[in-house]
Amino acid sequence: MRIVVAGAAGFIGYHLCRRLVESGSEVVGVDNLATGSRRNADDLGALSGFSFVEHDICEPLKIDGPVDRIYNLACPASPVDFHEKAIEILMTCSVGVRNLLEFADRRKALFLQASTSECYGDPLVHPQSETYYGNVNPIGPRSPYDEGKRFAEAMTMTYRRRRGVSTRIVRIFNTYGPRMRTDDGRALPAFICQALAGQPLTLHGDGSQTRSFCFVDDLVEAIIRAGHSDCVEPINIGNDDEITVRQAAEAVLQMTGSRSKLIFLPRPANDPMRRKPDLSRARTLLGWQPTTPWRDGFRRTIKYFESDHK
Ligand code: NAD
Repeated sequence: MRIVVAGAAGFIGYHLCRRLVESGSEVVGVDNLATGSRRNADDLGALSGFSFVEHDICEPLKIDGPVDRIYNLACPASPVDFHEKAIEILMTCSVGVRNLLEFADRRKALFLQASTSECYGDPLVHPQSETYYGNVNPIGPRSPYDEGKRFAEAMTMTYRRRRGVSTRIVRIFNTYGPRMRTDDGRALPAFICQALAGQPLTLHGDGSQTRSFCFVDDLVEAIIRAGHSDCVEPINIGNDDEITVRQAAEAVLQMTGSRSKLIFLPRPANDPMRRKPDLSRARTLLGWQPTTPWRDGFRRTIKYFESDHK
């Protein structure tokens, strides 16, 4: 099987490509390195069965040879990007997704869109199931990402209905693991790096907002299963073990043996208070559930950052 992965040089893209190559697929990674790393592309490039194309999906894609599947993970995805790369996000989620859907249509390939729990905004329903339409501020500072991803879902479903493209949509909840960027504003890598450097851990608000952190290996398994399922409706994937951000920070302090303090900053606008996926659909239709307890995943991630920063 030959698979195009857009966003291959990013955090999740790296792990997905590696897993696909290891299980025998040929993978063409596409990435413009907007937020991905050259190191991820180079490390993947050392695997036989992987090739890399530096390309912005906002331009039409040309790849020779057969293509069976396209997994689209391309999109800046961290809180700092929502502001700094707001226009690029909107273009990537609209023009970029359209280009990939056109490509999928021409090549009769399956198209899988990586969507997000941000489609639910600051949810008024808990936990969030796929049938909930969300509580999104369409003009707020997070709207380029939230609404961009909602538009990408609409485009994906429309190409399915109008053009008969075979599509899948996964709504990814907070995911973490080795190779996350340290400077992208996401809570966990920030806590780990602050703890290892002996700096204060910065929490937003009082840290009582909740997140459900999914280890990247579990997530990759779910993406692969979704690609091979016949579920054409969006599917939540993530971990449903909900903890507070403060609990996460305190666990990082304890696991790293750091004596850093916690400091509390104002919460950003429209930052969701609670986040937890309803995974019934994934459990039923994919026969999947996360298997890495957050304490184990945190330890593995800390180990990566410890060795990477020596
Ligand atoms: P990431 O920033 O590490 O990876 C995104 C990759 O896409 C980067 O390598 C970037 O260079 C590339 N990219 C961005 N715009 C592009 C363009 N126009 N053309 C080609 N490449 C482009 O982020 P990630 O955490 O690995 O996220 C991957 C996907 O999963 C994203 O679509 C994101 O929205 C989604 N997602 C991630 C999480 C999470 O917790 N990490 C949660 C929900 C959804």
